[in-house]
Amino acid sequence: MAVEQAGQTPKKGITVLGATGSIGLSTLDVLARHPNDYQVIALTANTQTDVLFQQCQAFHPKYAVMVDEASAEALAEKLNAAGSSTEVLSGAAALEQVAALPETDYVMAAIVGAAGLLPSLAAAKAGKRVMLANKEALVMSGKLFMDAVRDNGAELLPIDSEHNAIFQSMPVQGKAGVKRILLTGSGGPFRTRDIDTLHEVTPAQAVAHPNWSMGQKISVDSATMMNKGLEVIEACWLFDVPSSQIQVVIHPQSTIHSMVSYIDGSVIAQLGNPDMRTPIAYALAWPQRIDAGVDELDFFQLARLDFEAPDFNRFPCLKFAYDAHQMGGYASIALNAANEIAVENFLNHRINFTEIPQLIENALEQASSGTPLVLEDILIQDADSREQARLWIKNNKKQTTVL
Ligand code: NDP
Repeated sequence: MAVEQAGQTPKKGITVLGATGSIGLSTLDVLARHPNDYQVIALTANTQTDVLFQQCQAFHPKYAVMVDEASAEALAEKLNAAGSSTEVLSGAAALEQVAALPETDYVMAAIVGAAGLLPSLAAAKAGKRVMLANKEALVMSGKLFMDAVRDNGAELLPIDSEHNAIFQSMPVQGKAGVKRILLTGSGGPFRTRDIDTLHEVTPAQAVAHPNWSMGQKISVDSATMMNKGLEVIEACWLFDVPSSQIQVVIHPQSTIHSMVSYIDGSVIAQLGNPDMRTPIAYALAWPQRIDAGVDELDFFQLARLDFEAPDFNRFPCLKFAYDAHQMGGYASIALNAANEIAVENFLNHRINFTEIPQLIENALEQASSGTPLVLEDILIQDADSREQARLWIKNNKKQTTVL
C-alpha cells in the first residue's frame, strides 16, 4: 500500500531483506537519492547490529528485524536509548512478516542463500513487487516460486545484473523471435590461472573479484563459476526457456551485462559500468528510469571488449548446474545446498578450493529424481543435502592443513 502525502504522488513502501549486505547497502544508497518517492517500511539483518542501527537512524523504518535474538535485543536497547520509534522483531518468522506487510509495496529480496527462500516466497504470496537478488530462492523452488508470483499477482523484477540486462533486452511482451539468451560472466579471478594450482587458492584470493564488489558467498561462487551456474537455472525460470537456449559467454570486462539473440540475426545487449545500483534503480522505478548515482559508461575509456567460451574443465561447477537443471528440481536443491556448505567450509579453511566441485558432484549423485511440488519436500531435500555435504567433509577432510 503506497503511503499518501497531501498533494504528492504516494510514496512506495519498501521492505529491504538483507539490508546490511552488499545489495542492501546499494539499495539504500539509491533510496536515499529519492526520499520523495520511497519510504522504508522495514529493514532486516542477521547479526550486524551496528550497521542496522545506523540504517534505522537514517531511514526511520517502522520495523527492524534481526534474525539472531541476542542481536535483536542489543539493537532494541540502542534504538530505545536513541529515542527511535522503530519496533525491533527477531527470528526467521519475522522476515516473512515484514515481507508481507500491507504498507509494503516493494520487497528487495537480498538475503544470501537458502535463508532467503521463505521471506522471498512470502513477498510473492502477498502480491508484492519482488525485486529478486536472492537467486538461491529461485534455484531451490523454481516452479513453486513462479506459480506464487503468477497466482498472487506479484511482479518479479530481477536484480542480478545479468537477468536485469536480459529483462531489458527481451521483447516487451512474450518472447517471440528470441533465439538464445547470451548470459555473460567475467570468468572471475581465476580465468587465466594455471589450472594445476587451483587447489592452492586461498579464501582471500577467491573473494577478490576483478570487477564487482560483492558479499563473500557470491564472490566465491563467482570464482568457481557456480554463480553463473545458479544464474543459468535462475534464467530458465525467470524467462521460461530451456537451459539449451542459454549460452554462457565469458566477457572479462563485465561491460555487457547480458544479451538476447533474435532469429533475424539481431543481438540486443545492455551495457553499463559494473555497479549494482543500476539494476536496483531499474527495478525500483520500472517501467520508468531514475538516477542511480552511477557514472555514465565512457566508450572512449573502454580499451576493448573480449569474449570467450567457458571452459568446463576449469569450471566444473558451471557444468554441474546445467546437469542439475536437466535432472530436475531435487537436483537443483542439492546443488545449491552442497554449494552453500562447501563455500562456508572453504571460507573457514576446512576444505580447499578444488574440493568445492567434488562436494557438489557427490550431492548430485545422491539427489532424488524429479521435481518437488510442495515446500515441505523442498526443505527436506535441502536439509538432507546439507547433512550429506557435512558428512562428506567429515569423511574426506584432509589431515594436512588447508590454506
Ligand atoms: P551479503 O553477504 O553481503 O549480505 C547478506 C545479507 O543477508 C546481510 O544483510 C545478512 O545479514 C543477511 N543474512 C545472512 N544470513 C542470514 C540469515 N540466515 N537470515 C537472515 N538474513 C541473513 O550478500 P550479497 O548482498 O552479496 O548477496 C545477497 C544476495 O544477492 C545473494 O543471493 C547473492 O547471490 C545476490 N546477488 C548479489 C550481488 C552482489 O553484487 N552482491 C549481485 C547479484 C546477486 P548480516 O549482515 O547481519 O549478516
